[in-house]
Amino acid sequence: MDTTPNTGALIRRIVIAGGGTAGWMTAAALSKVLRGRVAVTLVESEEIGTVGVGEATIPMIQLFNRVLELDEDEFVRETRGSFKLGIEFVDWGRLGSRYMHAFGRFGQDLWTVPFHQYWLKMHQAGRAPDLGEYAITRVAAYRNRFMRPPTDVRNSPLNDIAYAFHFDAGLYAGYLRRHAEGRGVRRVEGRIREVVQDGASGHVAALVLEDGQRLDGDLFVDCTGFRGLLIEQTLKTGYEDWTHWLPCDRAIAVPCASASPLTPYTRSTAHTAGWQWRIPLQHRTGNGHVFCSRHISEDEATAVLLRNLDGEALAEPRTLRFTTGMRRLGWNRNVVAVGLASGFMEPLESTSIHLIQTAIARLIDFFPSGRFSQQDIDEYNRLTRFEYERIRDFIILHYHLNQRTDSPFWVACREMAVPETLQAKLRLFRTHGRIVRENNELFAEVAWLQVMLGQNLEPEGYHPLVDSIGEAEIAEYLSGVHALIARCADVMPDHAAFIARHCAAPGAGVAA
Ligand SMILES: Cc1cc2nc3c(=O)[nH]c(=O)nc-3n(C[C@H](O)[C@H](O)[C@H](O)COP(=O)(O)OP(=O)(O)OC[C@H]3O[C@@H](n4cnc5c(N)ncnc54)[C@H](O)[C@@H]3O)c2cc1C
Repeated sequence: MDTTPNTGALIRRIVIAGGGTAGWMTAAALSKVLRGRVAVTLVESEEIGTVGVGEATIPMIQLFNRVLELDEDEFVRETRGSFKLGIEFVDWGRLGSRYMHAFGRFGQDLWTVPFHQYWLKMHQAGRAPDLGEYAITRVAAYRNRFMRPPTDVRNSPLNDIAYAFHFDAGLYAGYLRRHAEGRGVRRVEGRIREVVQDGASGHVAALVLEDGQRLDGDLFVDCTGFRGLLIEQTLKTGYEDWTHWLPCDRAIAVPCASASPLTPYTRSTAHTAGWQWRIPLQHRTGNGHVFCSRHISEDEATAVLLRNLDGEALAEPRTLRFTTGMRRLGWNRNVVAVGLASGFMEPLESTSIHLIQTAIARLIDFFPSGRFSQQDIDEYNRLTRFEYERIRDFIILHYHLNQRTDSPFWVACREMAVPETLQAKLRLFRTHGRIVRENNELFAEVAWLQVMLGQNLEPEGYHPLVDSIGEAEIAEYLSGVHALIARCADVMPDHAAFIARHCAAPGAGVAA
């Protein structure tokens, strides 16, 4: 174990293997923060290509854009993107039900306990409408409205507009590539034929390409996708399989012609053995059916997908196979796996691009000096595991908390034993509607709240301190918030009109 203190020396050469979303996000971020102090080379193979999906994000991506100093309008225009205020879930709790996991917060925390506790009391008494009515993002989303939070207005629900993006994955990688190359990243085209290891340390020493070119490095970032060329095929790191909790193992993806209106949210519709995503972009809509191959055949799954498109299919449907789980170590020796090489969870809550972002942020936090420190690597791996497991629990929640009786798939999901960490969350919520966000886990209380309520888990009671405030006062407060949010949504522009005004891609067809 190396415990040498940092002397200011840095490793000299980073080689990124793979140029999908993970590779180019890593290259763009490292070239920005390293400011030319370390040589960054990225190798990718056009012949192999990328997965070409991954088009919905969560609001934390704004942080990534800020670090890169991207102009947001340019970013949306270049990627033919749209804005996202949340995810609508259709048929998840039971057939015919729908709810939204909207970004941002609910109401205002005025008194001692969280807003939703006051709402719970009034809702249980039949005196308050759906919780979604108290979130500006949810109200605006269902009215197809969008704007960024204003900088010149204070103490308004408009300041609570939290948003993310939908974008074209191929255009996104190309856009980041231009930024990374502009900051000195060297791109090498070619197929990696061999991964050379140092005999003594087992570290990766170089990548050798089909044409014989050799790329030597000190740190390697494995962004080669599901194959994990360095982290798995070379270092045999191992993979933890979570398919007993998340049994979907395939997706069929197909783009289709856009439909009006341009909705500022992703939609996820549950089917008999999986679910379908709908991601509206400026020039097309992305769709995919994620399913469990033990319960439905690929042909049937394709037919279901094609039956549920907004418009004409624009390409042949493509099948992607995956195993949900995570690499046992995200960082092994001098290899850090980022993106699909590090693990996979289905895109139900659009978390994969976020996991790329946080892996890069952690790599920067634990960036090696001239030598690698095992304590740093262990901490990197511990934090990665925590993040993955908590997201996993949140995704399992969607499946487990269902009342559907129309297919064996949903019954099995409901009856399966879930991780103890998730059981604890459910127990806590059931009694008094309490939710505890542990450390820095990704999904905040309001995210859990919306999914639990949306899928019909009604707490038996509410926080006892709610009763310290008189019912009339709570009722007046809730109706005030409700009315204010509705008025704020009134002044927001239409989503398509906002894009047409600020960031429409030429020829993409978005008009006000
Ligand atoms: C069905 C599905 C839907 C998804 N939806 C979302 C979503 O909505 N939101 C979200 O956040 N994420 C989503 N994701 C995840 C997202 O697509 C990925 O996280 C993201 O695209 C990163 O992929 P990647 O760069 O790791 O891998 P890839 O795109 O597979 O890239 C791998 C790269 O490695 C290169 N490579 C591989 N082998 C070699 C070799 N031998 N020599 C040279 N180069 C090589 C390839 O050429 C390519 O450049 C989805 C994933 C799937 C499967």
